[in-house]
Amino acid sequence: MNKKTIRDIELAGKTVLMRVDYNVPVDENGAITDDARIRETLPTLQYLFDSGAGVVLMAHYGRPKGQVVPELRLGAISQHLQNLLQRDVQSASDSTGLEATAMVKNVAPGGVLLLENMRFHAGEEANDPALAQELAQFGDVYVNDAFGAAHRAHASTEGVARVMKAQGKPCVAGLLMARELEFLGQLLEDPKRPFVAILGGVKVSDKIGVIRNLLGKVDTILVGGAMAYAFEAAKGNPVGTSYFKSEDAPIAAELMQLATEKGYDFRLPKDFVVADRDAEDATTKIVPAGSIPADMMGMDIGPATVADYSAVIENAQTVLWNGPMGRFEVTPFSQGTKAIATALARATENGALTIIGGGDSAAAAKQMGLSDQMSHVSTGGGASLEFLEGVELPGVAILDDTV
Ligand code: ADP
Ligand code: MG
Repeated sequence: MNKKTIRDIELAGKTVLMRVDYNVPVDENGAITDDARIRETLPTLQYLFDSGAGVVLMAHYGRPKGQVVPELRLGAISQHLQNLLQRDVQSASDSTGLEATAMVKNVAPGGVLLLENMRFHAGEEANDPALAQELAQFGDVYVNDAFGAAHRAHASTEGVARVMKAQGKPCVAGLLMARELEFLGQLLEDPKRPFVAILGGVKVSDKIGVIRNLLGKVDTILVGGAMAYAFEAAKGNPVGTSYFKSEDAPIAAELMQLATEKGYDFRLPKDFVVADRDAEDATTKIVPAGSIPADMMGMDIGPATVADYSAVIENAQTVLWNGPMGRFEVTPFSQGTKAIATALARATENGALTIIGGGDSAAAAKQMGLSDQMSHVSTGGGASLEFLEGVELPGVAILDDTV
């Protein structure tokens, strides 16, 4: 990691302006269903308090699109943070303006103020220099601990750091950001072999870039999830009523050709669990690849695929998993994902570095009670994908380099 962190700078008596990613999932009543993104910033916050700094937090929540949306206020998140920290968390009703400015001035060492949802201002996502200038007044030091938002050049993730840097203020990574960069960085820089990447899920077009970048770097790529049907279609096989977008097939064909030309070990499912519909009481059966019935949908990888993939994973020294193997939220289609998560847990036990990237894959591991048996579960969905595509994340690029 070539970026400075909070461990590299003087913090006593300073006000730290810190970007966090508290964009947590909630249920229909607005209750937080997974607070990992909040909890994972606690070590950074504790370090800052212990170093004698006061903290001003910037966060976004949902997609208010530059408007004040009352349901997207950070009240519940502020309350939750206060409970976790067991210390008073102040909340400003806006992220800029007179009230916020006055509250920032009052932040003492050990104090913490959470500014209101950054995305209530259109200037946030537009990376408006005027908004960045205003935010830059709020701290002596800029810290970015929002790995999950680092792939966006927004006012609070990039613009403000640019301004503070020009003012001679340190701009560094928080401990969560540093951990993410360290673990994910190990995948791209000299990973221990065999190195296996498992790619699944539903966002095929988002993940093609990752496959492209990883193809030459990994020893084996294992494909599952709805992504597999793009490859089935590319081979001219029927996909029935499976989740499939025809525009993905040509990209899949191109990747398969590349893998064949270069002799890469690129594996597709040998069999599938197909169903008459997407429901708990669906009628299911197992079919070999190439024979998905016209009136059925592929919902999971089948047992022959599980056996093949598990053996590869358990033999690996480095494993990246992004994207569930099937529609794991529905019981009859959860077996493949569960088996793969279990194989990863076994690989960890054997001494492999195992990393999960992707929000739904992380949720699957958690649902199966296997999260803590992985080396690292990334908090960044889109950000981890862009990182693995080899793209430089703007929120990381702007931070001070180590010398
Ligand atoms: P991640 O968030 O881990 O990157 P994605 O967002 O790409 O993963 O995809 C996750 C979703 O993919 C899950 O909700 C899962 O139900 C769905 N999925 C996986 N396989 C299938 C399939 N065969 N048919 C329909 N949906 C699928
Ligand atoms: Mg997802």
